Amino acid sequence: MDNNLPIQSKKMIIMSKQDPIIINTSELCKNYNGIEALKNLDLKVRRNSIYGFLGPNGAGKTTAIKLLLGLIKPTSGTGTIFNHDIIRESLKIRARVGYLPQDPRFYEEMSAREILRFTARFFFSGPKIEIKNRINEMIELVGITGKADRPIKGFSGGERQRLGIAQAMINYPDLLILDEPTASLDPLGRHMILELMEKLREFSTIFYSTHILDDVQRVSDTVAILNRGTMVAKGNVDKLLAGSEETIYLVKIKGNTEASLKNISDQPWITNIESEKKREQTSWQITVSDDNIAEEKLLRLILAEKNIRITDFRIKKYDLEEIFLQVVEAK
Ligand code: ADP
Repeated sequence: MDNNLPIQSKKMIIMSKQDPIIINTSELCKNYNGIEALKNLDLKVRRNSIYGFLGPNGAGKTTAIKLLLGLIKPTSGTGTIFNHDIIRESLKIRARVGYLPQDPRFYEEMSAREILRFTARFFFSGPKIEIKNRINEMIELVGITGKADRPIKGFSGGERQRLGIAQAMINYPDLLILDEPTASLDPLGRHMILELMEKLREFSTIFYSTHILDDVQRVSDTVAILNRGTMVAKGNVDKLLAGSEETIYLVKIKGNTEASLKNISDQPWITNIESEKKREQTSWQITVSDDNIAEEKLLRLILAEKNIRITDFRIKKYDLEEIFLQVVEAK
């Protein structure tokens, strides 16, 4: 980490498979008096990702975060962050991590600027002007400029979360860990925090827990689904949402559908067609075994019948909720 680098000068970087893994755990377990809060967690988080750690209440998300931060000790298993051991080298890790707890607490009489000054003192021993600049930068970054000098007691839930994020970002962390950052917010507050997370990704890797499927669908590139202490699914969000091996096209069509159906039904790369008619509109779900051929030929084949109108044509995407229910119920 380079503490002298102004945030604005860092370049937008998109995560790729070559990026190093910065959180790496192996069979991490935590028992509380016989309750297995977390079982054999194998987590790999690449630099520059927005990694959503998704699960219902009580799934073990906070337990995992506390283990990563060295706030509690695992019953068994190991883990590293930036190749530092989470048990033995927790201080080295925490110097490079920003953390937003689930329910951040502030001194209600203090202003946002005073809180940030208080936090910044832990990280800087440099000239006052640098501290001042860093605080202004954070206030601007999280969008609380107009409120920075008012007491926290008048802040909304969303403004408190944003202040908490500014506090977590003040030392330009390489990794930002957010525990349920949107859980207590109304839709507008949630939207603003999600937008802020996307913005922060330019500067830091983000690992956050949530029980809100929609948040993951909106901002994450990678997700792990946790249920009763066990990781039940993980992977790239788009791939997970696209379903498994087969691709399904959804087509809505009007006109001489019988003739058009004939054109496509004997293609060897089409493995299934389901048809449903509602008034004059017919809907097809067409399963294909070869994406490339389908991309090239499917639409042309349907349109080979002249007396036809297509009102919708797209690849079916799964909803995260469907996947979530599938994996959670299957276990
Ligand atoms: P989440 O963050 O996903 O809501 P938690 O990690 O807080 O889940 O909790 C996981 C499980 O561990 C729950 O059953 C919870 O009751 C239990 N648990 C968490 N912390 C403690 C603790 N300090 N003592 C005993 N049980 C705990």
